[in-house]
Parts: sequence; structure tokens; C-alpha cells
Amino acid sequence: MKKIISLVLVAVFVCSCAFCLTACGGSADNNSSAEVKELHMATNAFFEPYEYYKGKKIVGIDAEIAEAICDKLGYKLVIDDMDFDSIITAVTSGKADFGMAGMTVTDERKESVDFTNSYATATQVIIVPEKDSKVNNSKDLEKASIGVQLGTTGDIYVSDLKDAKIERFNKGADAVLALTQKKVDAVVIDREPAKAFVKQNEGIKILDEPFADEDYAICLAKGSELTEKFNDALKELKADGTIDKIVDKYIGE
Ligand code: GLN
Repeated sequence: MKKIISLVLVAVFVCSCAFCLTACGGSADNNSSAEVKELHMATNAFFEPYEYYKGKKIVGIDAEIAEAICDKLGYKLVIDDMDFDSIITAVTSGKADFGMAGMTVTDERKESVDFTNSYATATQVIIVPEKDSKVNNSKDLEKASIGVQLGTTGDIYVSDLKDAKIERFNKGADAVLALTQKKVDAVVIDREPAKAFVKQNEGIKILDEPFADEDYAICLAKGSELTEKFNDALKELKADGTIDKIVDKYIGE
């Protein structure tokens, strides 16, 4: 009987300690999140120099501009990494507060989300093997096998080519890998990530002829009150040279 009583007492003691610890920890967390509200940014962090992993941290032009906007507006930035073609759904469903991923403004996307003013211009380019390339200009793409990243503007443009064979990958890096393994004849992707891929892989090059010019912007849920605030912050960050400084840091021409 004594044994049972002491066991019960020990159990009660352990439980109350556990309760105290959780309660104390919980309230500290609540306090900090009550002080600084978080904003979740949806991105695909395999798009150097705009967003990519440096160790465990996501860095890059978009990550730093987003950080500067959140600092200005008094939010704590949280970056959520996902497939590129999940970003708009994350934003429309409210899972993320905004999407920033070297994302091109298109009329079709505008039907589901609002875009801020553009913060960068970009170009789609064609990557091919350095030697014996079957594709030497955009016309050659019409009958080629082409690797693209699923749901990107590169994907959208080449999907119009009826005789081309399109291979869609979740990451641009996988499309480039397929190119280095001669599984596709060319890859269509944004210029700056293309430059990073060419640097990281031997035997491939970017064709001089650009494929399409585009504008990057941040997407938010339709009617979001944040869009105007983001535009004001972007305007200030452009005017005070912050955006140029961030771009120069990552794209040292
Ligand atoms: N700019 C392209 C697009 O918006 C690709 C973006 C990306 O792959 N992160 O579709």
C-alpha cells in the first residue's frame, strides 16, 4: 500500500512539473509572437541568386528584399520553401502571406493573385551543350526536347511549340542535370539562375539570343491590404538604394 501511495505521489509530482514547464514555455512564445507578427513568404529556394540555401539558411536577392520590407513594416519574416508551382496556391489559400520567387508577372497569374510593382527585370534564356548542340537558336527549339521547371514561364512558353518534346522538372537544377546527361537538348530558364547553373556544371553554355523579357514582382492574395504597404516599402527601398545594393551583392556584373 505504501509503495502504491509513493508511486502515485511521484506521478503527481512529475505531471505537475511537466505542466508547469509547458505552461511557462507556452506563455513565453505567445508573448514573443504577440510582439512581432510573422509574415510567411512562399518560395522555391533552388533559384540562385534570388533564393537558395547557404547551409540551412535561405539567402538571395528575394530573401534580402523581403527581409528589408518586413523590417520596414514591423514584421518578422518566415520563409517557407516549396515547389514553385505550389506558391500561388499557398498564397490564395492563406497558408502564406506572400509569394516571392523570381516570379514573373503574367496575365494568367493575375487572375488568381495581385502583384506588387515590379522590383526587377529578367530574361528567359536557352542553355545548351557547349559542343555539338542540336539547338543553336530559338527556332531550333521547335523540334527539340526541352527541359523546364514545372509551372514556370519557361514551361508556359515552350508548351506552345507543338513539335517540341517538353520534360518538366520540379527544380531547375534537375532540368540542367538532364541536359548534362544528354536526356534533353536544351533548358529554358531565367538568365541569372542559368548563369549560376553554367558556373556549377561543365560543358554547358547560354545562347546569346534571349528568349523573352519579363518583370519580377511579389504576389499577394487578391485584395490583400498588404499590397499597398509592400509597394510603399519597395518605393522607399528603391529610392534609398537598398534594392540596388542587394542586387549588386548577388549579381556582381
Ligand atoms: N520567372 C519564372 C516564373 O515566374 C521562374 C521562376 C522560378 O522558377 N522561381 O515562372
